[in-house]
Amino acid sequence: MTMGLMQDGPLLISTLIEHASRFHKDAEIVSRTCEGPVHRCTYGDISRRAKQVANALAELGVRPGDRVATLAWNGYRHMELYYGVSGSGAVLHTINPRLFPEQIEYIANHAEDQFLFFDLTFVPLIEKLAPLMKTVKGFVLMTDRSHMPECAIPGLLCYEELVGRQSSEYEWPVFDENTASSLCYTSGTTGNPKGVLYSHRSSVLHSFSACSADVLGLGAKDSALLIVPMFHVNAWGMPYAGAMCGARLVMPGPALDGKSVYELMRDEKVTLALGVPTVWLMLFQHVDANRLVPRDDLCVERVVIGGSAAPRAMCEKFETQFGAFVVHAWGMTEMSPLGTVCNLLPKHKDYSLDQRLNLQVKQGRAIYGVDMKITDDEGNRLPHDGKAFGHLMVRGPWVTKGYLKGEGGEILDAEGFFDTGDVATIDPDGYMQITDRAKDVIKSGGEWISSIDLENAAVGHPAVAEAAVIGVAHAKWQERPLLIVVRKSGQELTREEMLGFLDGKVARWWLPEDVVFVDDLPHTATGKLQKMKLRELFRDYRFPEN
Ligand code: ADP
Repeated sequence: MTMGLMQDGPLLISTLIEHASRFHKDAEIVSRTCEGPVHRCTYGDISRRAKQVANALAELGVRPGDRVATLAWNGYRHMELYYGVSGSGAVLHTINPRLFPEQIEYIANHAEDQFLFFDLTFVPLIEKLAPLMKTVKGFVLMTDRSHMPECAIPGLLCYEELVGRQSSEYEWPVFDENTASSLCYTSGTTGNPKGVLYSHRSSVLHSFSACSADVLGLGAKDSALLIVPMFHVNAWGMPYAGAMCGARLVMPGPALDGKSVYELMRDEKVTLALGVPTVWLMLFQHVDANRLVPRDDLCVERVVIGGSAAPRAMCEKFETQFGAFVVHAWGMTEMSPLGTVCNLLPKHKDYSLDQRLNLQVKQGRAIYGVDMKITDDEGNRLPHDGKAFGHLMVRGPWVTKGYLKGEGGEILDAEGFFDTGDVATIDPDGYMQITDRAKDVIKSGGEWISSIDLENAAVGHPAVAEAAVIGVAHAKWQERPLLIVVRKSGQELTREEMLGFLDGKVARWWLPEDVVFVDDLPHTATGKLQKMKLRELFRDYRFPEN
């Protein structure tokens, strides 16, 4: 082999902010703050203050590899910590405040966090948790002196005092690009949350991908609204990708209600917005209730939706009322998170809106860097015919190879693929579509029924507010689908009407065996349907003919 004659240099997160501070130094970071006002600064400012953060960490005695945790919304101070902590060689542990307090306590201890930086919102929570966080040596409230509350957190430090007194002279250390940079725990729907440890290299490579045209196409021309939280897989990598390309970033702070989001989109001339379906539903409610005309008020061009499936009606509303194209994306904490993105091919140019929406509900095509296969229960590859569905497996340089401290044991198959726990089809053009979570798929007479497809079909009925489908034991077929429905308030709907509505919309043998009506459905801390809880609730349920 002959080696290439190209220069080498580690792909470090500090190089992103260095680049932004030189070549995009005036591009803005706009943040709605916990204190109230909208704050404006630039990449130049973030770079300077991240260096002050790095000096502050040195003063606190933080060493390379130490975990420094945050419990914070999207905002400029959080961004300073993204760069200051990781850039100095420590590991940024972004904690999801929506987890249950016992889970937060568990992961802070499991990660052995040394310091915790947190927003004003979380003062009452930390008052309770501080004595239980065994390894945390100090707590830093991310505000200025005038907002420091009277509270029961011993030795509480003030961010602006701690950081403000530091020099902004700091030389970013250079080290191996495979060094750990940040840590994020999975939400732990089964068992304890598990830690996913990203590296500098994986984060920088993921940023290149996020900026490329057929992925999210983030660029200096964009004003990007990060509704997706910075404690949720590093806000889908946007704080890093933003610095790489110099995109203007707009951070909503704690205000995620429809009105606040709409006003931020309008006032900050947002061109690209990223978030999970739930926040967009709140935005739609605000638009409808106030008869707003988003097309006239806003200049949003693309809306990235991920975290759970983007419903067809949502893609349609963004297209027709906002003039925005929905970029449907799929991924997970273990994948940094980007895996597939639903963008169009030349052959889709002449598609009608209807045809295009049918495509856009798919989660999209594998992006460079992510290899993907679907397999049966025995691990055999299944065809990419858009029909066969199987376990979705992935591998690549921003996919995890193991959880922190070896939790969960060996997680890759013989070919190095990670089992996502999702069940999917892949069509001949490479478009992947999630049909279920592996543990939710209904196994009926040796065939699989997608609970998600049934739920989507059921919510198409105008009287249905929410629907869930679980598999229930059946003497003959092993398992059959049970449809659980929440009616819209004041609406009538019978079992027979519901089944009649589904007839013809799904394969005959997929039709639910029974329909039951409930007042509400259980959800996880991140708003996903809690199927495990539902299965528990319906443990003693028996089908009528059984
Ligand atoms: P995130 O919610 O940020 O994607 P998690 O790791 O909490 O990260 O959850 C990952 C899971 O969420 C995936 O395995 C998949 O089941 C689901 N998911 C993510 N994106 C989509 C999507 N576009 N459509 C359907 N399910 C999705």
